[in-house]
Amino acid sequence: MKVKEKQNMVLSGYAMSSGLAKGKAFLYQDILQRDHELYDITKHEVDDEYIRIEQAIKVVIHDLGLTADRIEEELDKDSADIFHVQKAVLCDPSLLNEIKKELCTELVNGEQIIKRVFHRWERKFREMEDEKFRQRADDIVDISSRLLRELSGIHAHILEDVPDGSILVAKRLLPSDTVFLSRKTTVGTVVEFGGTGSHAALLTREMGIPAVSRIPNLLKYVSQGDVLLIDGFSGSVIVNPDEKTENDFKNRIKQLDISRKKQLEHCFETAKTLDGLTIQVFANVGCREDVQHAIKNGADGVGLYRIEQFYLSRKNPPSEDELFEEIRQSLLPLEDKPATIRLLDAGADKEISFLNMPFEQNPFLGRRGVRLLLEYPDLAISQMRALLRLSKEFNIEVLVPMITLSKEMYEMRKLMVIEANDMGIDKLPLLGAMIETPAAALCAKEISEHADFLSIGTNDLTQYTMVAGRENPLVSDYFIDEHPAVQKMLHIVMRDIGKTPISVCGELAGKVNAISMLLEIGVRTLSVAPLLVPKVKEIIKQTSTM
Ligand code: PEP
Ligand code: MG
Repeated sequence: MKVKEKQNMVLSGYAMSSGLAKGKAFLYQDILQRDHELYDITKHEVDDEYIRIEQAIKVVIHDLGLTADRIEEELDKDSADIFHVQKAVLCDPSLLNEIKKELCTELVNGEQIIKRVFHRWERKFREMEDEKFRQRADDIVDISSRLLRELSGIHAHILEDVPDGSILVAKRLLPSDTVFLSRKTTVGTVVEFGGTGSHAALLTREMGIPAVSRIPNLLKYVSQGDVLLIDGFSGSVIVNPDEKTENDFKNRIKQLDISRKKQLEHCFETAKTLDGLTIQVFANVGCREDVQHAIKNGADGVGLYRIEQFYLSRKNPPSEDELFEEIRQSLLPLEDKPATIRLLDAGADKEISFLNMPFEQNPFLGRRGVRLLLEYPDLAISQMRALLRLSKEFNIEVLVPMITLSKEMYEMRKLMVIEANDMGIDKLPLLGAMIETPAAALCAKEISEHADFLSIGTNDLTQYTMVAGRENPLVSDYFIDEHPAVQKMLHIVMRDIGKTPISVCGELAGKVNAISMLLEIGVRTLSVAPLLVPKVKEIIKQTSTM
């Protein structure tokens, strides 16, 4: 679309993460989804075309080396190994021979050859018996994307290389993509697909990055470098604004900063309702930076520590020592403030590549959360031992994800006791259950008999109550966490659990209109994205439960 035609164009979507942002569009397009040009070449052109492919391979090998070095410096050697393995694949002579042969027989351009050969290799790996080789299939896909990007001259794809102050524009963001998001480089995101309960939405909210989703044909209207104004309150995006629109928007950003500053001035005060009830406002975190952010924003502690980040994009699970060190470092700023750390909630959309997980027709209704932990006890044991060690130094509680049966809590407690005995620890941290399935909500009483505390995850509870996948944009109209059906679930839980301590840690806990309802039904602890803590405290102070 011509630049002139789209000046001041307003694109309407859905508010995924609140806030306002101005920045330059950075297009993130999954290269494999693009239609690549197809053209014939003659026999005389084969050598030149092969040289073009060889050059692309050389550049990709070089880039993989740089990425491996950087990842090793920032994360660890295991994570960096992924890229070393990819380098080795690209140096495999049988692959290069196959490319050359295909080029000679098919006589089409390099992009098409790469797509075909790598697709074949991917299938070959996927069908292998040995799990280690099956996992290699993802590497093949990744390498072919890199090669295609190089051949097509598209360098502005890798999320690691997003320039500072960008607005990320993408068809969709997967949980593994979001690992690369950083507040410094990404001031906002706009996606074509993505529900409000998706992990991309959660992560952007947690990072305080305004985001808008569900703009049809987004990539048709936005080009690389366009200036975008995104409004994460109304869910709209303005493309290449004129001077007046831009100035008005900048004023709104200023006003927002002023009111945020005001909230921040009071964020360290205790949140007391008008009728004098003290409400604890905790933060949901996923890494070291989040904890620092939570503290700066006045969080009373950490209500949900998601540890999935330590497992994604790895070839091997982190060891007990690694987990201990990583989590320990991140908890240091908390001093004696409490932290609830959730055991790994893998499965469904949070796929862990090193687990030998059989194909499941419907992984959201399959082996995830605690079901996987019970299936892979080694995984659970390393986490439990790391947390038990941490409990000597920090005020921590352990939370079990995706409970459906009270028996699962019984099993997890047994595991905790065995490991604690083995380690000579007699003061066990509290063990809690996530209430995020209808079964758990309806049987919260039975579950509470095996749990020291409960935490309601309204995101999954909404997904399973409303039968609307949180990552599925086609049903996001059904994903309504404020729906009476979800509220009824919450009522039942609060009615049935007696004096068992309970918190709400799903997105609903940070919603302006839901807070008074939650307080009315008896919730006294909320856990929200770090950036929302000051605002939630302000709302509580203006609310009465009488
Ligand atoms: C939830 O389901 O509400 C929750 C807090 O867990 P997650 O969003 O990590 O699935
Ligand atoms: Mg959940």
